[in-house]
Amino acid sequence: MAKTFVFKFGGASVKDAKSFKNLREILFNRLRNHTVIVVSAMGKTTNALEELLNLKLEDKPIYEKSTKLKHYHLEICRELFLPENLIFPAIENFFSQLDRILEKPLSKENYDEYYDQVVSFGELISSRIVQEYLCAEGIFCLWQDAREIISTDSDYRFAKVKWDKTASQCQKHLMAKLERFPVITQGFIGSDEKGKTTTLGREGSDFTAAIIAHSLHSQSVTIWKDVEGVLNADPKRFPNTVKFEELDYKEAAELTYYGASVIHPKTIKPLANLSIPLFVKSFLNPDGSGTQIHHVDKPNTVPCIVVKDEQVLVSFRVTDFTFINESHIHQVYTEIEKLKLRVNLLQTSAISISIVIDKQLFKMEKLIAVLAKDFDIRYNESLQLITVKNHNRKITEELMSEKEVLLEQVTRTTFQIVVKPLAQ
Ligand code: ASP
Ligand code: MG
Repeated sequence: MAKTFVFKFGGASVKDAKSFKNLREILFNRLRNHTVIVVSAMGKTTNALEELLNLKLEDKPIYEKSTKLKHYHLEICRELFLPENLIFPAIENFFSQLDRILEKPLSKENYDEYYDQVVSFGELISSRIVQEYLCAEGIFCLWQDAREIISTDSDYRFAKVKWDKTASQCQKHLMAKLERFPVITQGFIGSDEKGKTTTLGREGSDFTAAIIAHSLHSQSVTIWKDVEGVLNADPKRFPNTVKFEELDYKEAAELTYYGASVIHPKTIKPLANLSIPLFVKSFLNPDGSGTQIHHVDKPNTVPCIVVKDEQVLVSFRVTDFTFINESHIHQVYTEIEKLKLRVNLLQTSAISISIVIDKQLFKMEKLIAVLAKDFDIRYNESLQLITVKNHNRKITEELMSEKEVLLEQVTRTTFQIVVKPLAQ
C-alpha cells in the first residue's frame, strides 16, 4: 500500500474564520501526498446540536436555536468565501435536511438513534466547508463521506467499529481518491448495516483518525490541538505543567483512561497494534515539537494529574444484614454492563459497594429501577474524580486541601479521590 498520513483537526481548530485561515496555513506548508484530513464539528456545534435535542425532548421550540447555529456557520463562511460560492446553498441544504429530521417525534425510546442522525450534521457541514475553502485557496482536495468507509454496529451513540469491512472500504474508496488529491472526511461518524448514521462517542474524531490510519497502515497520525502536546495536567486547571516530548503508547492510554481529554481513549490501541506513531501538536504553534506517542522503553516518572468532571458516586448497600460478596458485585456489574456504563472506580466495604460512573442521560434511573429491590441505593452527582499517577505527598495534600473528599483510593503509583468541586 502507498504511504499515507492522517491529520486530525478538532472543533477548536475550525471555530472561526481566523482558525480556518490558520488551518490552511498549516496544510499549505505540510501537506504531503496521500493525506487524509479528519475534521470535527466547528467550535461547540456538537453541544449546540445536543441542546436542540434536549429542547425537542422537553417539547420546547427549537427554531431559534437551530437558526442561530446556521447563522454561526454562514457568518464564518461570509468571511472566507465570495458571496457567489456554492458553500452558501450547500449549508442551507444541510440545515433544511436537519430541520426535516427534527420534525420527527423524539422520545426516550428512540433517543440514541435520533441523536446520531442529528448530531452527525456538525461534522458533515464542517468537512464540506473545509474542503470548499481549501479548494478556493488552491489546495485541491476531495470530500469523503465517512459513512461510506467507517462501518459500525447499530449501538447508536456508542457504535462499535467493524474493522475488516472498514479496512477494505478505506483501502478501496479512500485510496482511489488519495492517488489524486488529499481527502477531507468527518470524524466521529459512521454507518451501520442498514445504512443509518451512527456515532462513535463524544470526542470520537481522534478515534476516526486512528481507525483510518490502522486501515491504511499509515505512516503517522497527527492530531492538531490548542495545547503544545500531551501535558502532565490540564493547563486550564493547573499551573506549571510539563509537556512530554515522547510518551509510550501504554502510558498515554492509561492517562486517557483516567479521563485526560487530550486524546480520545480508543485512539491509542489501533495505532499501537501497528506501531503507527501519533503526534500531538499545537495548531497555534505548528513548528513546536509537540509530543510523539510511540513505543518508549523507559517508564515515565513525572507526576500526572487527571480530572474527570460530571461524575456520579453511587453506593449500593445490602439491606438484609449480609455482607458484600462476589454475587452482589456480579449483580451490580451485570446491570452496569447492560446499560453500557463504565465504572471509573470501585470500592467495597463490608456492607456496601461504591462505584463512580460518568453521568449519562436516563441511565441512573434505569440502574436504580432494576437494583432497588436488593440494595439501598444512594448517589451523589456533579463530582470530580481526580487521579494522580506517580503521586507524591505534596501534590496529594494540595489537591485535597479545602475540598470535601467523598472517597479515596491509593496504590503505590496511583492516587484517586472523588471530591465535590469547589463552588465557582
Ligand atoms: N464533534 C464531536 C464532539 O464534539 C466529535 C469530536 O469533536 O471529536 O464530541
Ligand atoms: Mg467536537
